[in-house]
Amino acid sequence: MMTERVNILGVQVDAVTMSQAVERVINLIGMGKPSMVATANAEMLLNATHDAELKKILNAASLVVPDGAGTVWAARHLGKQMPERVAGFDLVQELMKIAPAHDFKFFLFGAAPGIADKAKLKAETLYPGIKIVGTRNGYFKAEDELDIIAQIKSSRPDILLAALGVPKQEKWLFKHKDELKIPVSIGVGGTFDVMAGVVKRAPLWMQKARLEWLFRAMLQPSRAGRLLALPKFVWKVHQQKNGA
Ligand code: UDP
Repeated sequence: MMTERVNILGVQVDAVTMSQAVERVINLIGMGKPSMVATANAEMLLNATHDAELKKILNAASLVVPDGAGTVWAARHLGKQMPERVAGFDLVQELMKIAPAHDFKFFLFGAAPGIADKAKLKAETLYPGIKIVGTRNGYFKAEDELDIIAQIKSSRPDILLAALGVPKQEKWLFKHKDELKIPVSIGVGGTFDVMAGVVKRAPLWMQKARLEWLFRAMLQPSRAGRLLALPKFVWKVHQQKNGA
């Protein structure tokens, strides 16, 4: 299955549907080599314009899905095909849904103490038969890293989900991927918080109206400053289109 990659502010984003993204992950697990999947929203793509390491990591990823209305808009504005939004949270749910049939095992790494365990319980209720082989919170000191790596390796997951925030999760996964030898690693931001019920997802009508970002800002006013990323992103995509 060949799909296009679209250059958005210097990052190659895969023009995939949700089902194509899931298919890719299944193939990556089959290949067995350590690989990374990234979920690129407007804020991440904007960050990559001034974070060369993040940009390099994203361009080295095996799959970069268009997470969010901003990314889909950008691709289309640049005259490219972008079938639909593939939100990181939704991708995780789809992978968890098909996991029992493929015997795929997950490790949940990140978020505040107790949250990954709650997300695990939620997944076990929603997706009967799912195997979540370990959890670890995302607040650690440099000297804990060897321990964390040993814990993840010894539980032998097929998919490592890391929720440490952007770009910490991408950098951590990239740095340790060869040592970890996990077939697929994905940075998943606030996914465990939402699964644990600590943070709410926007109602469907708001998601459909492409207003999920507004809902998040309303719920967590501390994030409101991050909204500035959106107009900046739009401006930079315009510049890219006009060849500036
Ligand atoms: N987090 C963590 N360790 C840290 C910083 C953040 O585990 O050192 C977690 C945080 O508790 C939250 C997630 O990372 O669960 C980041 O969520 P957010 O929605 O802010 O993700 P972003 O929008 O940055 O991807």
